[in-house]
Amino acid sequence: MPDAEKHLEALLNDDDWVENFESKLHENEQGCLIWHGSVDRAGYGRIHVKKHCERPTGRNFFAHRVAYSIQTGEILEPKELILHQCHIRLCCNSDCFEIGDHYDNMDDLHESGRIAGERNPKSKLSEDEVWLILELYYDDGYTVTQLIDKLPNVKRGTITDIIYGRTWRDIYEEFQETE
Ligand SMILES: [Zn+2]
Repeated sequence: MPDAEKHLEALLNDDDWVENFESKLHENEQGCLIWHGSVDRAGYGRIHVKKHCERPTGRNFFAHRVAYSIQTGEILEPKELILHQCHIRLCCNSDCFEIGDHYDNMDDLHESGRIAGERNPKSKLSEDEVWLILELYYDDGYTVTQLIDKLPNVKRGTITDIIYGRTWRDIYEEFQETE
């Protein structure tokens, strides 16, 4: 089991931690559970956790992915993406989620018109996928080959450009800052 998965599992089994996580969610009029913690540049909720982490520096998680695990008891594979059907990126209500892959995410982004808000409209990746690649490589010790196996739709050159900070520079810098 990858370290990030082990870490998340330990957190899910920690009732105090789960309670504290849930205290950061506030239900709005339409039933979405809005995250009131840190937000990344793409507008997704992020949480940095040292508790139960095998490294003293801790690890970053997406709030909606943690919420999904708390609410369903399942841990998603990195290639399984959460598509927000409510189009509210801070929403952590699994009732609003559909699980898809990279291509579903592209369709979702196009349909909701959100692709225009991404850093580079021509890019095939969303900001959360770039974060994911950086996390898998730097936090979880994936090799480039393992990343390609995990994300078969993403080209090797695209992955190496991201992990060496040649593209998506602002996300790369933000990621290094939060380490
Ligand atoms: Zn929602």
